[in-house]
Amino acid sequence: MQHLMGLSRSELTEFVLGLGLPRYRSDQIFRGVHERRLRSFEQMTDLPKSLREQLEQAATAATLTVESKHISTDGTRRYLMKTHDGRPVEAVYIPTESRDTICFSSQSGCALNCDFCLTAKLGLLRNLTAGEIVEQTIIVLNDVYGEGVETPHGTNLVAMGAGEPFQNFSNLIKALEIMSDEHGLFIVPGRVTVSTSGIVPKIYEFAKLERRPNLAISLSAATDELRDRLMPINKRWNLDELLTAAKEFEKTLKRGERFTFEYVLLGGVNDSDAQARELAELLRKHDLRRAKINLIPHNPAEQLDYHPPTADQVLRFKEILEAEGVSAYVRTPRGRDIYAACGQLAAKSEPNLVQLAGV
Ligand code: SAH
Repeated sequence: MQHLMGLSRSELTEFVLGLGLPRYRSDQIFRGVHERRLRSFEQMTDLPKSLREQLEQAATAATLTVESKHISTDGTRRYLMKTHDGRPVEAVYIPTESRDTICFSSQSGCALNCDFCLTAKLGLLRNLTAGEIVEQTIIVLNDVYGEGVETPHGTNLVAMGAGEPFQNFSNLIKALEIMSDEHGLFIVPGRVTVSTSGIVPKIYEFAKLERRPNLAISLSAATDELRDRLMPINKRWNLDELLTAAKEFEKTLKRGERFTFEYVLLGGVNDSDAQARELAELLRKHDLRRAKINLIPHNPAEQLDYHPPTADQVLRFKEILEAEGVSAYVRTPRGRDIYAACGQLAAKSEPNLVQLAGV
């Protein structure tokens, strides 16, 4: 069964022609699926009934089911979905005053095994298809704005859910292309950020893409010794290789564009004054001081042996970086109480007790 959400406009045309249908039907179907975000052919009442029935036999526009929806006290929503073969998929809706962000997953589970991340506990279940990636976004948009209602301009998309996007590179890029189509969701690359743990060869490949989203690189340590421990992927590509790739990527940016490093702050582990200076020094060594640093205080969970630093220490870390000429921002935790914050997607159905206990 062909999942139509994973087909680009030209692939959909091929498919439609293959069914012996005229070309203009393809445009109608593309708009139905991506612009009106309809997940059943029955609702595409601009198509004749016989055609809807024919499509029903050959294709689908809905392979994910929503198992549960969790709403945080801060308005963040987490959707726990399942694939047709029973794998968990999670997406998060994060409203702010100025814009809404949708965070989607690129894989079910994750293979990376970062020590501070709850998703790691799932292991890698499988890569998601391009259609499953697009469908997550559509499900969230429909829930938030209603089916058939145009996607508000300014909706941001981040590939920061479960999984390592660069270990599912071609499906990710394809999904982003489909979602950027002006006759569909029309979420342009400038509104999208892809986060990688540091799959170095893919950073070079990504740099070559013509219509490219923004990039974020998860760093979280300024020495190989510590990063090896926190993020085992560092044993494959170390900091020197990673930052060399980051520098090459930076060279391809247009004026005014920047990329981001993410640094998860772990209390007593990587948050000292000396470590802030070490980080600034590392960026200076690689001539990367123009990159932006997003500091993410650790989001705790019962199975994780880490805790966030005090608010004072977070501020100190940021100020030391700034004094060294590095621009640093603190990412406000969102949806911690419902396992929706960074590093908390682990297919949970219950609330986060650690957070509720105020730890
Ligand atoms: N695998 C990719 C995409 C995930 S993005 C990557 O690592 O970049 C999720 C972000 O949340 C990453 O920057 C990751 O380092 C961070 N993160 C993981 N666990 C976390 C936790 N418990 N608290 C705060 N941030 C966490």
